[in-house]
Amino acid sequence: MRKDWIAGALTVCLLLTGCGTGAENTAEAARSSMQTNTEEPVSREIFAMDTYMIITAYGENGQEAVDAAEQEIDRLDALLSTGSADSEISRLNAAGTAQLSEDSAELVSRALEINRGTGGAFDITVYPLMQAWGFTDEAYQVPSDSTIAALLEHTGSDQLDWDDDSNTLTLGDGQAVDLGGIAKGYTSGRIMELFDEYGVQSGLVSLGGNVHVHGTKPDGDKWRVGVQDPENSENVVGVLEVTDCAVITSGGYERYFEQNGTTYHHIIDPSTGKPADSGLSSVTIVSADGTLADGLSTALFVMGADKAAEYWRQHADEFDAVLIADDGSISVTEGIADAFSSDQSFEIISRK
Ligand code: AMP
Ligand code: MG
Repeated sequence: MRKDWIAGALTVCLLLTGCGTGAENTAEAARSSMQTNTEEPVSREIFAMDTYMIITAYGENGQEAVDAAEQEIDRLDALLSTGSADSEISRLNAAGTAQLSEDSAELVSRALEINRGTGGAFDITVYPLMQAWGFTDEAYQVPSDSTIAALLEHTGSDQLDWDDDSNTLTLGDGQAVDLGGIAKGYTSGRIMELFDEYGVQSGLVSLGGNVHVHGTKPDGDKWRVGVQDPENSENVVGVLEVTDCAVITSGGYERYFEQNGTTYHHIIDPSTGKPADSGLSSVTIVSADGTLADGLSTALFVMGADKAAEYWRQHADEFDAVLIADDGSISVTEGIADAFSSDQSFEIISRK
């Protein structure tokens, strides 16, 4: 599957370096002439958080910004990874309680907020279910109904005890947590902050195909971010033209196994304990808030198209979305209808 990630990341890159429309207003033209269009970006490819990543920064301090971004990714990976036994999250899971550092605390607090907001569709306590399905160690298996029922007893963020004065999280009986559903969006958001600190006005990061863009392209054009085809992740079904935002996708195609002709993917519906079967094959969220974009991509995938559209109507000022259904049909929320282009026709989800 790593090959797919690489292909996906490269697709994004190709699109991003492609030409924009060329239609520039005076301000944009002035901005491009001031900037060094010929300047080569600093770009680095790394493998972290179980994913293939590319960090790119243009202009002065690009090198320093990319160095700082790489260090930040490594720092957050070491803190949050459930794959390493001495990460803060693994130690919390082993001990059942822990006082969390600033980043983990921020993530837990956002995760709980998204959990409440999405009626439980996003839930960091699905980790024991992820283990039972073998997604954590690639020993894939379909758990028995009784195993799932027993684990569901302990699933639910309402069983967590979160003290936000002391940043102490205490797990309920049999619980373990996993921030994998929002960690990448938080990380890309942190990289945007670092770009700001280093004075980088133009840059982007792709974390396993989840893209976060900073500013515009150096010539003032919008960034062009591809939305992958869930059926073939080397293809894109459409392109979003965006500035200053995260474009984060959750899809069953990103990690899955097959058994007896059935495909089982890694996004668990916390109400059933099984891979979500909501009729969607991918959800792409566009938002200035990377953490929110990541949490909602997972949550709306679980919710399915109708509930996702309803949720968007209540939060249209916070994010937009591209939904791709199992039959390949595409729906786009009104806020990005003009920013999205596709060879395929698509439905627009309107505010009312
Ligand atoms: P994403 O790729 O952002 O959709 O995140 C998927 C990852 O989040 C999975 O690999 C799990 O680690 C975790 N996860 C799976 N299902 C859920 C869920 N319903 N709520 C929160 N995290 C989940
Ligand atoms: Mg997510």
